[in-house]
Parts: sequence; structure tokens; C-alpha cells
Amino acid sequence: MNTVLLVEDNESNASILQDMFEFDGIPAKLVTVQSGEDALRVASQLNPALILMDLRMPGIDGLEATLFLRMNAQTRDIPIWAITAYAMEGDEERAREAGCDDYITKPINSKKMAEKLNKFLEQREGRDAPTETGSRPEGR
Ligand code: MN
Repeated sequence: MNTVLLVEDNESNASILQDMFEFDGIPAKLVTVQSGEDALRVASQLNPALILMDLRMPGIDGLEATLFLRMNAQTRDIPIWAITAYAMEGDEERAREAGCDDYITKPINSKKMAEKLNKFLEQREGRDAPTETGSRPEGR
């Protein structure tokens, strides 16, 4: 089973996602850490399918953690979705510049988030399943 690593210093935000993984049948195990420091350590151990990265944290924040993950050969290719509060102007651009692949705004819409996660995990899992865009394997 895939593992998803959640990096979030705020417990109530973390619990929204934890509940989603527990009750909405998302086919992955969620591991939560509360700091950028722990994210760096745990990411290389776990090699998660995806990292959900809060940007605002004390110490090593989400942008810095992303930069470090991108510099490390072991973690460089792990998809990272930044999570930050709505209306934090410039965060999306900064997140993408740091190397995040996608961007989620808080408050998290559980239904949309669950759909997005399911789609991501399905595409990663089922290579033979046709993708939504209808892209075909090379050499047809
Ligand atoms: Mn935070």
C-alpha cells in the first residue's frame, strides 16, 4: 500500500486529513509529522507516494523543507502538494518555485481533496488503466 506523508504543525488541520484517510477509503496509509525537520528525516526513510506539505511551520518551514527534499537524490522525485491558508498571497508561486507540484488551499474541502487523492493514487497504481486524458502508451 502507498504511504502519504502529511507535514502539518496544526493538529486540527492534521485531523481533517487523518479522518479523510480513515473514513473515506483512500487507498494509502497516512503518516503525519509536525515539523519540517521531521519531514526531511521521515521522507527519506518512508519514500512516500506523496507529501502533503504545510507551508507555515516554525523552524524549517514548508518552503525550506521542499527545497531540501529537492536537493536530496533520495527524495527529489517525490510529488509534493503544498497546503496553505486561502489568501496567503504569493504562496502558490513561492511553493511552485521551491519545487512543489501542486497547491491546496485551507480550509480543505474534504470531498474535493478525497477525489484528487484517489485520482492521483489510482494513476500511480494502475499503469494499465486508461488515464483520463486518454493518453496512450508509446509505440502503438
Ligand atoms: Mn502551519
